[in-house]
Amino acid sequence: MLIDTYGRVATDLRVSLTDRCNLRCTYCMPEEGLQWLAKPDLLTDDEIVRMVRIGVTDLGVKDVRFTGGEPLLRPGLVGIIERVAALEPRPRISLTTNGIGLGRTASALRDAGLNRVNVSLDTLRPDVFQAMTRRKRHQDVIAGLEAARAAGLTPVKVNAVLMRGVNDDEAPELLRWAVENGYELRFIEQMPLDAQHGWQRGDMVTAEEILDSLRTRFTLTPEPNGARGSAPAERWLVDGGPARVGVIASVTRPFCRACDRTRLTADGQVRDCLFARTESDLRAPLRSGATDAEIAALWKTAMWGKKAGSGLDDPSFLQPDRPMSAIGG
Ligand code: SAM
Ligand code: SF4
Repeated sequence: MLIDTYGRVATDLRVSLTDRCNLRCTYCMPEEGLQWLAKPDLLTDDEIVRMVRIGVTDLGVKDVRFTGGEPLLRPGLVGIIERVAALEPRPRISLTTNGIGLGRTASALRDAGLNRVNVSLDTLRPDVFQAMTRRKRHQDVIAGLEAARAAGLTPVKVNAVLMRGVNDDEAPELLRWAVENGYELRFIEQMPLDAQHGWQRGDMVTAEEILDSLRTRFTLTPEPNGARGSAPAERWLVDGGPARVGVIASVTRPFCRACDRTRLTADGQVRDCLFARTESDLRAPLRSGATDAEIAALWKTAMWGKKAGSGLDDPSFLQPDRPMSAIGG
């Protein structure tokens, strides 16, 4: 097991497949992009599958989520999913994507064994989308969402980040649209993980503000038996249900005590937290002949020292060197 000194057990593995992206969301990376990882530094498909296999068969990982950067940009994605789906015990497999290209690939991904997708979409207005992502791809994302639903990659979840003065007036309209289309909407508080280090606590649209805005149009009731468990989203029934909405309040209502995450970056570093300032290199042992048992032992050690919390509330909080796009969000 991947257990830490606080008794938390990590069963949910987030794998970043690339740090590259075809969008430039303002809260994530600068317009010019970033210094991307060099190809030889990236884990190969075989190395990724080996790491996931060790996680699943030796360390109790039950859920595997592929992310990035933009995971649909990884050429070997379908093959990786196929091989992970063949593992015993079979993990649940999901993908977090900006949805561009999903229109073409959703059914192949499902056939490979993908169970679910989360698609990020912050606005229903193409001009606002262009301002937020610096690309004119709004329609591609909508098409990607529809293809995911048609392919049965359900429940299709939509992740939205609200930015003050940009799209913070859109929460109720996004929810109406999501309910109408059968998507489960989750708002994510903006986190200090942008490459530009431009995050300001005062600019962040808080969970409370989001809920207040939604309540102008909907009745929200906390989900019955809604023990949040390890799920980061707190969920509410919309107008009595069955539709739901979630809010991931990583900053104002952190869920660190129940965290069950372990993370693998595209260049083979294990991280115990999005906000960690240290990571453990497993690529070097992977490439110098370490056995599965040795890799598993190193992974366990990497998780054992996980801190109690993200430290976001502490005035001395320091943003990690790697931005979200290179960690895998
Ligand atoms: N490119 C894919 C996407 O956008 O879904 C996967 C990677 S992205 C880093 C994963 C999620 O992190 C997205 O839902 C995105 O909106 C969110 N995200 C990125 N930067 C963020 C930030 N500074 N605060 C909160 N969420 C952020
Ligand atoms: Fe790309 Fe996702 Fe970051 Fe937007 S949030 S720039 S889509 S990695």
